[in-house]
Amino acid sequence: MKITIVGAGIGGLSTAWSLTKAGHSVTLIEQGVIPNPLAASGDHHRIIRRAYGAAGGYANAISEAYEAWDELWADIGVVHLDSRGFIAVSRETGDEAEEYREGLETGGYPIEIYGADEALKRYAYLEEGTFKYAFFSPEGGALHCKRIATDILRWLRENGAEILENTQVIAVDSENASIIIADGTKIFADKVIVTAGAWVTNLFPEISTHLTTYRTAVVYLEPPADLKAAWDASPVVLDVGGRTDGYILPPSGGGGLKFGSGLHKRKTPSADLDRVPVDGEGEIIRDLFAPPLKRLAEYRVTNVVTCAYTFTSDERFFATEMGKCLVVSACSGHGYKFGAAVGRRVAQTIENGDVPLLKRWLRAETH
Ligand SMILES: Cc1cc2nc3c(=O)[nH]c(=O)nc-3n(C[C@H](O)[C@H](O)[C@H](O)COP(=O)(O)OP(=O)(O)OC[C@H]3O[C@@H](n4cnc5c(N)ncnc54)[C@H](O)[C@@H]3O)c2cc1C
Repeated sequence: MKITIVGAGIGGLSTAWSLTKAGHSVTLIEQGVIPNPLAASGDHHRIIRRAYGAAGGYANAISEAYEAWDELWADIGVVHLDSRGFIAVSRETGDEAEEYREGLETGGYPIEIYGADEALKRYAYLEEGTFKYAFFSPEGGALHCKRIATDILRWLRENGAEILENTQVIAVDSENASIIIADGTKIFADKVIVTAGAWVTNLFPEISTHLTTYRTAVVYLEPPADLKAAWDASPVVLDVGGRTDGYILPPSGGGGLKFGSGLHKRKTPSADLDRVPVDGEGEIIRDLFAPPLKRLAEYRVTNVVTCAYTFTSDERFFATEMGKCLVVSACSGHGYKFGAAVGRRVAQTIENGDVPLLKRWLRAETH
């Protein structure tokens, strides 16, 4: 089959990988370069973790996610996963860290719980008296997104896929499986798959009833010299407890120490709006992390990266079929870890036509 894929974040790249492997003739079209630094998949690293709180279906689906990444590593000949595990720090009864712990315990997944004294010994960046306990899970780490994109791209070129970079799709004709690019050229196929991230509503405005676009930013920091070793050796910090909705990636795979918080995101009418960080934005994000981190004012901001992404109202993943076009959005702020698995599932759907099954899987309602 001849298949056009619109958008080369992890969704488009992994779908192109899987369809090319299955023998299809794939054209992958990206409006920027690959990886595109403005895409949700364009940053240095993203977290993979088993913890999903009450949304246990996604916790179970992590086994498939790992298995799909393993298939990808075998194909590209290199592993871009740093399996350093993760911790969560609980500051209040019932906070998100506790929900993650309870979800893992319910699922029977292994964790180690450290009281405050033990956690302070292990993680020297934490501040005494600001938290109740921490727990560690070995099932998690950092995926190195830029390297993954670069190597899938190389694999696609080596295996005969057509790649069009700096090429914007301006219209999709779902009934005829054709698309139009910015210079007016029309490209015909048997199927079109749209994995356009936060830009999807430019092509299909009606989808904004299902997907809301947000703008956020993350901050890269240089820690005080005496805490550097603690960060270098640290697991990923999935949650810093309380209401911060904050996560931290330690330096890994060429990416530096990075802080991000769900509190910083805000709705935006366009994925292209406000993409230059404002003065002081990095410090604002950094300061959300006290408590439970100590001496935050001594962490120097080295970079701030903005991001645009979409959420469904229940933070699950989304797909819809229109004629010969399949639109897929595995995001809601947590889709990267499933990237390779999403590509394989979308490719299977193109083969078997079972879009309802794909939708259920994307919503973690089946396996
Ligand atoms: C700050 C932040 C932190 C996150 N943390 C995590 C995490 O720790 N773990 C995790 O699992 N997930 C995380 N996520 C979510 C994850 O990044 C996304 O789920 C995932 O990257 C989405 O990939 P995508 O391919 O669907 O979209 P994108 O990566 O946004 O890719 C879409 C691509 O389509 C291109 N495109 C759009 N329109 C057109 C067009 N008309 N023509 C041509 N090309 C087009 C864009 O340029 C872009 O390259 C995070 C997201 C953000 C923003």
